[in-house]
Amino acid sequence: KTFASLGLCPELVSTCEAMGYKAPTDIQSASIPHALEGRDIIGLAQTGSGKTAAFALPILHALLSTEGKPPAPFALVVSPTRELAFQIHEQFEALGAKIGARSIAIAGGVDHMAQAVALAKRPHVIVATPGRLVDHLENTKGFSLRTVKFLVLDEADRILTMDFEKELEKIVTALPHDRSSYLFSATMTSKVKKLQRASLKDPVKVEV
Ligand code: AMP
Repeated sequence: KTFASLGLCPELVSTCEAMGYKAPTDIQSASIPHALEGRDIIGLAQTGSGKTAAFALPILHALLSTEGKPPAPFALVVSPTRELAFQIHEQFEALGAKIGARSIAIAGGVDHMAQAVALAKRPHVIVATPGRLVDHLENTKGFSLRTVKFLVLDEADRILTMDFEKELEKIVTALPHDRSSYLFSATMTSKVKKLQRASLKDPVKVEV
């Protein structure tokens, strides 16, 4: 398989080549075609499998395919930890540079006011840890998730073991129903299944 054969637009295919990705990984081959068809996805995959690009590429493809000025924020990625949030943000920046996509990482331990200012600049992609995101939803004037078209819950099992259930509920409630959702997890626990039922619509299950 090639990135082009998965249905990705030429700008993203050439970015993957420039980044040295020779061929899609298994999780990318299995999930990207479904994502481009507009399906919700539940992906069982570990770190190192290439799962970040598996959700980032379809989101960037949709961003580029949007007619006129895309809404901002366009995509929300929820991460269990600040380290993972920054890694995901960096991959979005690298994969999206050529198409002008702008991303931001929102996590604890970073100056609140500076984050509010960065949010006001309307990035396309917000990668956030649950606690700090809810803080901004409740306290940052003018910030809303009503324009979001894509939700990603990354490492969902870890988000749930870190007791972020209440925050997740607030986040999902703040999102429009008309959106695509991807949930990635290394394990399928009963809590993950419950979260899946609350946040995904008729998902395709992808396992590698
Ligand atoms: P992840 O599992 O998303 O944390 O990705 C692990 C690493 O693999 C990251 O450094 C990615 O840049 C890299 N990567 C993602 N997709 C590919 C690919 N198709 N070929 C080679 N490397 C990749």
